[in-house]
Amino acid sequence: MDFTLTQEQQDFRQALRQLVEKEIMPVAAEWERSGRYPTEIVEHLKAMGLFGITTPEEYGGLALDMVSFALVYEEIARGWMGIAGILGSHNMSCSIIARHGTEEQKQRLLPKLASGEYRTGIGLTEPGAGTDLQGITTTARREGDEYVVNGTKTWITNARHAAVLPVLVKTDPTATPAHKGMSLLLVDTTTPGFEVSRDLGKLGYKGTESCEIFIQDVRVPVRDLLGGVEGRGLQQALSGLEIGRLNVAARSVGVAQAAYDAALRYARERTAFGKPIADFQAIQLKLADIATQLQAARLMTYWAASRADAGRRVDMEAGMAKYFASETALTASLEAMRIHGGYGYSTEFVVERLYRDAPLMAIGEGTNDILRTVIAKALVAGSGIVG
Ligand SMILES: Cc1cc2nc3c(=O)[nH]c(=O)nc-3n(C[C@H](O)[C@H](O)[C@H](O)COP(=O)(O)OP(=O)(O)OC[C@H]3O[C@@H](n4cnc5c(N)ncnc54)[C@H](O)[C@@H]3O)c2cc1C
Repeated sequence: MDFTLTQEQQDFRQALRQLVEKEIMPVAAEWERSGRYPTEIVEHLKAMGLFGITTPEEYGGLALDMVSFALVYEEIARGWMGIAGILGSHNMSCSIIARHGTEEQKQRLLPKLASGEYRTGIGLTEPGAGTDLQGITTTARREGDEYVVNGTKTWITNARHAAVLPVLVKTDPTATPAHKGMSLLLVDTTTPGFEVSRDLGKLGYKGTESCEIFIQDVRVPVRDLLGGVEGRGLQQALSGLEIGRLNVAARSVGVAQAAYDAALRYARERTAFGKPIADFQAIQLKLADIATQLQAARLMTYWAASRADAGRRVDMEAGMAKYFASETALTASLEAMRIHGGYGYSTEFVVERLYRDAPLMAIGEGTNDILRTVIAKALVAGSGIVG
């Protein structure tokens, strides 16, 4: 067993690190505090091709292997987790379109999405339904060559910057089971009746907007039904969750790494009772716990990613990685804050932001409680052989 990255992956990680250390870390604290949109950073992400990491090369993307995919989110989240959000649902939707779109949809949309000329996200959650997506109430009624869409979506990341948004709808609200009447529509966000109504206030995850969207009598051409067949929307959306969970696992590793870096640095510099606090055993125990859990989270994330690269379905592995890594990010950010004493509570130190950013990873792409049930189902079904 060899735990090293390939030379290509190491070079790629180095390039990502340079980008993060030069363009993201110096501005993260100030821009997140002021609520400024990171336009310049987006341009750097475009230049590196990072809007096309899940898009096949024939449509202009990088088609990264999944370990390299994880490196993107890990390295960016080490600098500022909110920036990872700009890429997250974008690349998930590109993967869904690449996997399920018609040839015409792929040719029309993917090259522009891969270059970042078009941005996207994913519109699943509604005020009354998040985990229980079959409970959505957004409908799409067919009228000739168009669907007429009505409903409300909430918590939609990148909503204000999306040119096209895959929106989960009910094309047959009477279907049982409900998923047989659900479809994904690739909605042009400039269509009359599509209104990003408000930005939602949030604890962390700044830098990218999370919005509510009103959809009133929005007319969507039938050619924008993903894959051209009704009734497959829920499966199409859920097929993106596998990579979505790897993305969140990797972001969590990045946040935990940043917490560890800050904690170690501070513990060496801060003195109390005439010596660095790193000399106190109580601080050493915390550092050891953060580092050990961080390394376990990282290995689990790369393990899940490399299994995906081997062509397997990795619902269970990605679920385990996301669950463990996000809990690690939560613990690491809290412990790093404790190591900082009173300064950890100050907005002058990065641990305060890490502590606000970490909880999202325990919620997004399936709450950790739901993931534990996903893992258990795979184990009980006998398909989840660990090893
Ligand atoms: C910052 C942010 C960004 C987001 N971005 C997007 C986005 O871009 N696109 C998008 O579509 N959505 C997005 N979401 C929504 C996110 O995916 C949902 O919040 C998440 O899926 C949980 O759904 P919910 O909030 O409706 O919670 P609920 O589903 O109402 O869950 C509430 C609680 O009940 C528990 N629960 C629910 N069902 C069960 C069950 N069967 N068994 C046990 N426990 C259960 C949950 O674990 C949770 O603890 C975002 C959310 C946030 C906070």
